[in-house]
Amino acid sequence: MITLYNTRTRKKEEFEPLNDRKVGMYVCGPTVYDYPHIGNARSFVVFDMIRRYLEYRGYNVYYVTNFTDIDDKMIDRANKEGIEVSELAEKFIAEYRQIANELNIKPANINPRATEHISQMIEMIEKILDHGTAYVAEGDVYFDVSEFEQYGQLSGVDPEELSAGARVGVDEKKQDPRDFALWKAEKPGEPSWDSPWGKGRPGWHMECSVMGKHYLGVPFDIHGGGQDLIFPHHENEIAQTAAAYEVDVPVKYWLHNGFLTINTEKMSKSEGNFFTAREVLDNFDNQAVRLFLLSGHYRQPLDYNTKALEQAEQSMERLRNAADTLRGRISILERKGIGHTNADDSLRTANEVVRQSFEREMDDDFNSPGAFAALYSFVREINTHASKAESPAVLRESLATFSGLLGVLGLDIEESKVAGTESSQEMLKAAVELLIELREKAREEKDYATADMIRERLGEAGISISDTKDGPTWKIG
Ligand SMILES: [Zn+2]
Repeated sequence: MITLYNTRTRKKEEFEPLNDRKVGMYVCGPTVYDYPHIGNARSFVVFDMIRRYLEYRGYNVYYVTNFTDIDDKMIDRANKEGIEVSELAEKFIAEYRQIANELNIKPANINPRATEHISQMIEMIEKILDHGTAYVAEGDVYFDVSEFEQYGQLSGVDPEELSAGARVGVDEKKQDPRDFALWKAEKPGEPSWDSPWGKGRPGWHMECSVMGKHYLGVPFDIHGGGQDLIFPHHENEIAQTAAAYEVDVPVKYWLHNGFLTINTEKMSKSEGNFFTAREVLDNFDNQAVRLFLLSGHYRQPLDYNTKALEQAEQSMERLRNAADTLRGRISILERKGIGHTNADDSLRTANEVVRQSFEREMDDDFNSPGAFAALYSFVREINTHASKAESPAVLRESLATFSGLLGVLGLDIEESKVAGTESSQEMLKAAVELLIELREKAREEKDYATADMIRERLGEAGISISDTKDGPTWKIG
């Protein structure tokens, strides 16, 4: 049973999807106006991990993450660069895809773009207007917060306090400072679309409400994003969808990931206190970056610093080495044959323990640090027992469990140093066979002292030679 912390109810709840094993999941994607920073990357990786774990647990997840390709930031940046908004979007969508690929993020079932859903946005706004929770003001359309009683249900923001602290800007036509734009009338030099209220473009919050509804229906199961999106973005999404479709709970579970700090300070673009995902991936092992981003619980803040990344690289190395140890032992036993020792029993037990601990931790609100702790203790068991194990079946099972569970966290140890391991096995084989040939030669020449020395020294190194009627054979152990 999976329990997860639902921001909407402010407690951990048992996960019960709306439709049995089918799960609809929407995660706010990037506004594609700039290079994604490492804090954005945390959000991508966290929700990818959650999706992978749900799939591992047998759920059929339909995963939607959008590209916000029209909003104020897009327009400002495109104007600054003297290019079309669509050109800017293409550039950074390509960049996002590259980063996602390097972080081993499983492709979404669909990456809708806001500009491909303008007609559905207009439809939803019309519904909200029909239900009396929005008004038109000189080509703009605003959501009327005073007409929506449940406003504040997600963020806990008190609508009364909100109105006390806010003022209506001079260029705005709102009736109340809490109201927010569903549709913005065209301004010179901005992209625009036709609508019943004149030319204009959608408000940002409207984009996610519509794409979520379009691909997952109303209501759907899981909506994710960074904590900074709880208010106003997600609060407004709820208000819009609830008002348009007259449902109380448009999304059952709201999940939010914590901030990434840089050297314990809040990451800030304006202060220059941030790193792009590109810089980080260029400087560190890609899988170690992913491991680092999952090394803290997803709801807690996580601090980015060089030392933490170096530690993640070491951890990744330990994980890869343990997999290589298993592979190396399997390849030795393929020549040596099958046996069974206490080490095999210990390994088989460790194999069951790691799976149980991993699932227990991940079932508890996707506790990835706990899952890593389970994997590291499995690494210790592998390092203790694998060299003495004699059953290829047990070793193969351990390797399958190990790489399978790492795969749930999106870490791939399949390729690592397989080539290196195989070539060192080949080298060992060639060296031992050369020594056996020399021993045979010594025996032919009746130089028994040399022949015995070779046999003894190989024995000390853990390689035993047996003389059979077909000639000498050797094995490790
Ligand atoms: Zn969104």
